[in-house]
Amino acid sequence: MQTDYKMLILSGPSGAGKSTLCKYLVEKFPDIYLSISSTTRAKREGETEGKEYFFISEEEFKKGVENNEFLEWANVHGNYYGTSLVNIQKAIDKGKVILFEIDVQGFNNIKKIYPNAFSAFITTKNIQTLKSRLEFRHSESDAIIDMRLKNAIKEMQEVSKFSYLIVNEDIEESKKALSCIITSLYYVNSANISLSLTQNWQINIKDD
Ligand code: 5GP
Repeated sequence: MQTDYKMLILSGPSGAGKSTLCKYLVEKFPDIYLSISSTTRAKREGETEGKEYFFISEEEFKKGVENNEFLEWANVHGNYYGTSLVNIQKAIDKGKVILFEIDVQGFNNIKKIYPNAFSAFITTKNIQTLKSRLEFRHSESDAIIDMRLKNAIKEMQEVSKFSYLIVNEDIEESKKALSCIITSLYYVNSANISLSLTQNWQINIKDD
């Protein structure tokens, strides 16, 4: 099993601020590869094809699933979302720090494949704050907001599985916390790194 990867999975209720934080990290750390998922969800105002997501039809998505093109995929709030396998492998080969912004189902699946991946759960201090943020976005109907809140309550039950927990009250504090976490990933040890260092240390000291 591959062990020389550096990954951070960001999960947590939709509306907690994951996308804003991801955008910040990508701008701050040039070495990050942000995994862009494919989705069957309709494009929101202000979203661009290939930036937030690859927006594809349900038929195309199902073809991708049949052809094993996804590392993981899930139905979230009634739409399909999936992570492309080939792009992740390329990012691992380039030694990039890989950032995922996916739901808790995706987190559980990625951890099965990449058990050494780090993870951070981003949430609000309570459900009222989340509800106000979702309503403030004006991008979803009341029914969809309701579904997202129910899902948030379910996702909160898995919070203890994550390496880090960020209650996103103050966005500047959250940015600082995540910057520290990303920086720490540059120092994560792996079999490959320690082996090459050990080889550098193989000088011959003659026994007298
Ligand atoms: P949104 O529609 O608000 O962009 O995303 C809805 C949820 O789907 C979010 O929790 C987001 O993190 C999650 N998501 C986005 N892409 C993927 C993916 O490729 N796989 C999984 N499992 N979840 C995803």
